[in-house]
Amino acid sequence: MKPVYDLEKLKYGTDAGTYSRAVGLYKKGKVTKVECVAGSYTAIVLGTEPYRVSVSGRSFKQGHCACYLGQQGTLCKHMIALALHAVREGKPLAMETTKTPGEAECSMRAGQLNDMELQKAKLEITNAMKYIKPYRGPSKTWFANQDSLCEGCARLYDIVHGLPVSKQTSDLLINLLLRLDKKLCTGGVDDSNGTVGGFMTEVVALLEKYAKIDPACINSFKKLTEIDHTCFGWEADLVRLFDEQPR
Ligand SMILES: [Zn+2]
Repeated sequence: MKPVYDLEKLKYGTDAGTYSRAVGLYKKGKVTKVECVAGSYTAIVLGTEPYRVSVSGRSFKQGHCACYLGQQGTLCKHMIALALHAVREGKPLAMETTKTPGEAECSMRAGQLNDMELQKAKLEITNAMKYIKPYRGPSKTWFANQDSLCEGCARLYDIVHGLPVSKQTSDLLINLLLRLDKKLCTGGVDDSNGTVGGFMTEVVALLEKYAKIDPACINSFKKLTEIDHTCFGWEADLVRLFDEQPR
């Protein structure tokens, strides 16, 4: 039986540290004696000690591990390593499965996406936006809602990471910021942890770098001068760059 979740779900649904340590364990063959019984996986994962680990095929967040964290009910690297084994059926991981850290790095490379790449980026953005969901309660669903925001932002980080720099990609990012702003202002998203706001601040910093590499990017900030209110004033630095650009 194949698990319900896939590699993407594991990658974006786990924090970067746990995920990369789990990848390390899996690649080094530390996941041993894997069995699948009634939709659940069990294994011995060789960590500091050999740990007995189990993980559900329906949700990788449901499982047990005999390690210190696992005993506290925390999702640990051993459970994720077993979930990786389940998803890949023991086969090697592709190279691109290492996760980028939570920061929006600039490619420092001027250029455009071709039509297909642009379509792909837009689709991926739309897909990631589905995880930025409103919180409607009850309060016991709050943590799951916050996890979803984290997963959405992790996906978005991966999309903006390494985009070429041009007016085209700058437009793409401005539209993304405005969509997120709308979700925060009127979409009922509870960002009290600052997950989405943190991501937006990173994208603003990224756009400031864009402006230095290709000043034509500044023209896409014009859109920001036409709105009268944003959720936390994130646009201020970009509006200033637009106002102060030499004409
Ligand atoms: Zn563990």
